[in-house]
Amino acid sequence: MIKELKDLVEISRFYGSDPDFVIAGGGNTSFKDDRHIWVKASGFSMNNIDIQGFVQLYRDKVKDTGKKKYSADPHQREVQVKEDLLTARVHPESGLRPSVETSLHEVIGYPFVIHTHPTLVNALMCSVSAEEKTKEFFGDEVLFVPYAPGYRLFKSVSALLGRYRKTHERDPQLIFLQNHGIFIGAGSVSEIKDLYDFVIGKIRKTVDEEPLLPVPKHPDTDLLTKGLLSMVPDKNNTIVIRHNSLHRYFYERTGRFNLISRPFTPDIIVYCGPAYLYSDKDDLSSVLSDLKNQWDAYLQKFKKQPKIILVKEYGLIAVEESKKPAETALGVFEDFMKISKYSEAFGGPHPMPEEEIDFIDRWEVENYRRNILRSANRISRKAR
Ligand SMILES: [Zn+2]
Repeated sequence: MIKELKDLVEISRFYGSDPDFVIAGGGNTSFKDDRHIWVKASGFSMNNIDIQGFVQLYRDKVKDTGKKKYSADPHQREVQVKEDLLTARVHPESGLRPSVETSLHEVIGYPFVIHTHPTLVNALMCSVSAEEKTKEFFGDEVLFVPYAPGYRLFKSVSALLGRYRKTHERDPQLIFLQNHGIFIGAGSVSEIKDLYDFVIGKIRKTVDEEPLLPVPKHPDTDLLTKGLLSMVPDKNNTIVIRHNSLHRYFYERTGRFNLISRPFTPDIIVYCGPAYLYSDKDDLSSVLSDLKNQWDAYLQKFKKQPKIILVKEYGLIAVEESKKPAETALGVFEDFMKISKYSEAFGGPHPMPEEEIDFIDRWEVENYRRNILRSANRISRKAR
């Protein structure tokens, strides 16, 4: 294996195993030489990735996706782009699917490109003053890209890069994505790490980070779990409850839950769903009947069951098919809570627009990502 691919694996694991940068299956990485690009395969987690988790593609074929005319229907278009990316693979027999962000990696003019969703970067990216503060902190040498998903994001970054290249001699190394995360490009992995340190250090100066402190379990926690389980018709559901100072922050003041009632990033939708239940009732039977009403309304509206529930004095609850995805959903939601809280330093949170939430919720590519992680969980459960 060439040294650069070893570096790519190493840096992917480095950021992938740090929940302040990557949670669950989020983020992706690449290396390119003149002819080929190696991109993380869709559905693989960065924390334990090996070279087998990367897809090698012909760069000129990936470039073609930027010139082609695709369907005007966004869902149709994502499928067409996905098909074209599959034909760009050097080893189609691997069966691996390149990341949906492959074309974006290709267009950024640096050998290494490391894309993550860091909590602190997203505190800025999911805030109401994201663009203004990015300029203030990082100047005109960086790119700020308004929210867009999938192929639309790629087209938007290409257009902005085209404009940038007219007045600059080289590509921006920092590309900030509203309601999403960051792309960092460089010639070496050590330079990538320096840039990440620089970005995080700068944002950290403005944000009051607080440690998560455990809060004692409510004495009726087991009764609440039982009540919730009797509410869900599917007997395969597992309920996991956590209680800490971050959960308390969002229920201790009336109205604060509103700050996290709508998702800020696609990851939150993928792992926690498009909306969440909340009850601030005082006694257990009122909590349960309150949640029952909300549960039924959710089923009606989204045609699936909710995954995340916050209950005053009890904490944060995940409902999933087993313990592992429930823990993942809780981790992603806690990250979302931190992003919301930290975004107060930049004027408060800015959720995704309603139609974009809906788009991600229906997006087949994202469903694929969720499903491959699920089946990976299933396999590891069986192996145990
Ligand atoms: Zn991303």
